[in-house]
Amino acid sequence: MVHVDGRVTTCCLDEGLENTLGNARETPLAELWNGSLLHRWRVAQADGRFEDSGPYCTRCNWRGAGTMPAEAVAEYLAGTKEHAALRRFRTRYPHVARHSHRKAK
Ligand code: SF4
Repeated sequence: MVHVDGRVTTCCLDEGLENTLGNARETPLAELWNGSLLHRWRVAQADGRFEDSGPYCTRCNWRGAGTMPAEAVAEYLAGTKEHAALRRFRTRYPHVARHSHRKAK
């Protein structure tokens, strides 16, 4: 979410801007979206470690609201070569097909 002053946070619930990634007036939005901080927080959420997915997530009771489909999470982890996280995710969500992240030829 981009606030009026340009600050970008991960979540529309984060009115206090605790999960601020940066400022879109200073850093391209794509850079913030694809940056290492948000990547770490995404992997933490995939692991169910909300305490590591941004300061506001630690106290949030909406965890999982608007969650991405499990297949999309697996695709993200595979695409970013987070193989250990992908194995952990598949342990938690065994219904995700082993090769669901591969694109059809
Ligand atoms: S855990 Fe809560 S604060 Fe964090 S991204 Fe999810 S809904 Fe937003």
